[in-house]
Amino acid sequence: MSTMDYQLTIRTMLERARRFFPRKEIASWTPAGMFRHTYADHYRRVCQLAHGLAALGVGRGDKVATIAWNNHRHLEAYFAVPCMGAVTHTVNFRLPPEHLVYIINHAENKVLLVDEDFLPLVEAVYPKLTTVKAYVIMTDKDHVETRLPGAIRYEELLAGQPDQYPWPEDLNEKEPAGLCFTSATTGNPKGVVYTHRAIVLHAMTICMADTIGVSEKDVLLPLVPMFHVNAWGTPFAAVWMGSKLVLPGAALRDLPAIGRMCQDERVTLTAAVPTMWLGMLQVMAKMDLDLSSLREIIVGGAAAPRSMIETYEKRFDIQICHAYGMTEAAPLSHVCRVKSYMADWSEDARYTVRAKQGLLAPGLEMRVVDQITGADVPADGRTMGEIWLRGPWVADEYYRDERSAQTFVEGWYRTGDVATLDDEGYINIMDRTKDVVKSGGEWISTVELENAIMAMADVAEAAVVGIAHPRWDERPLACVVPRADARDRLTAAAVRDFLGNRFPRWWVPDDVVFVDEIPKTSTMKFDKKVLRSRFSEHYTANR
Ligand code: AMP
Repeated sequence: MSTMDYQLTIRTMLERARRFFPRKEIASWTPAGMFRHTYADHYRRVCQLAHGLAALGVGRGDKVATIAWNNHRHLEAYFAVPCMGAVTHTVNFRLPPEHLVYIINHAENKVLLVDEDFLPLVEAVYPKLTTVKAYVIMTDKDHVETRLPGAIRYEELLAGQPDQYPWPEDLNEKEPAGLCFTSATTGNPKGVVYTHRAIVLHAMTICMADTIGVSEKDVLLPLVPMFHVNAWGTPFAAVWMGSKLVLPGAALRDLPAIGRMCQDERVTLTAAVPTMWLGMLQVMAKMDLDLSSLREIIVGGAAAPRSMIETYEKRFDIQICHAYGMTEAAPLSHVCRVKSYMADWSEDARYTVRAKQGLLAPGLEMRVVDQITGADVPADGRTMGEIWLRGPWVADEYYRDERSAQTFVEGWYRTGDVATLDDEGYINIMDRTKDVVKSGGEWISTVELENAIMAMADVAEAAVVGIAHPRWDERPLACVVPRADARDRLTAAAVRDFLGNRFPRWWVPDDVVFVDEIPKTSTMKFDKKVLRSRFSEHYTANR
């Protein structure tokens, strides 16, 4: 075999961190304070975990589930499991119990590593878990009461195990390394398998200067949960590059604590969905934080409103980078960086670009396809089409799922996202195919409308949904959460007027309802399904 056929496996990341960055730090939040150790310690514990899992009977191709916060033990599983030839199934702890049971059984998980905080979740369903042979509780405590049969503590599993592991030499890069389920519009979640090769190439890509540029100099705080598409691949990139990692643990649900963590650990790079950053704006307005170490915040998972990008930069001097991707693409497919010659453009023109989802990542292929004709849409920045993707880290099926055939067609992954493509190559996501409003045969982008509403000073959050309409099939309805101090002031007419000045008249929602909060999905995105069903008769009742 030529050396150029060298297999791209996750082990290459693990070994590099051990060899070149043994003194670099991993800081992991615990209720008792920051737990700090190094990549040398990390390596030893990864080996011990691999021995412990092998002792529990985990072998090549077996699936090990994790239900855990972003913490050092979860990180150890990220490496021990795939490097020994098994597969890490990162489970979303916000799933309803029936989905939890489905995905664990469907993936035939053999061992389940669970953070103590999530024990009640597992205890509530364990009799229905048909394949799990062993439960391992991730805790600092010496003793934990649990009903889980034969449960063992994580530290007990590691204790006394050798701190070297004979990693399999014959691991093929095409073997599965990770598994992640993504919610479906209806029915059970759908699983996506990541091979070693996909994870390695994706991590290499997010280290490129023109994408996210993860580097040794970075102090990286992944705020995307590690159950959600490998926290966008950031832990892999950080370990590979030897960046200091800050893992927020259960503090993930406490925005002021996250703010302090960024300040105290001198975080340079962090990543999360827009709802998190919208919430953080309110926290930052109240707390006096020194966030000057932050070189950039990566925002993705849902559209980053331009107003939010501008506020971060102008008010707090924090740079935002807008990125786009999905579970099926490990996840990164696009990153928005303005081109060098755009530096001469007006500020307004540059922000217009910055709010787009950006350019295709090097290594991938894309089409933007007219859903009726099947032809590529013109790169005119106006015509909407569905984004199709293919490439070395894009899935070509769902894990043992007959729904695959609807989504993966002739070698392309049909994303279900509707976008425009401009003459510079930047895509702008207008909607999900299932969210776009079809009014009298024309499409209206709910994303454009809600981002405009969120630019109003009196608005905290807003979502726009298509509601059945007797005359136009569907019409947009705006659901708006006013800022706390604007509850008595903000009116539906003000919202409609604001939109009327920015969009064609027929785009303006026929009505605006004020709500206490926009419901969120298990990955903290706006849950439009819930709004659509809550207001399903808004335009038909009493009319
Ligand atoms: P998930 O698989 O849960 O990560 O969700 C992926 C979906 O989130 C994509 O297919 C898009 O619909 C949406 N999404 C991700 N990033 C963005 C973004 N920057 N702008 C708009 N939508 C996004």
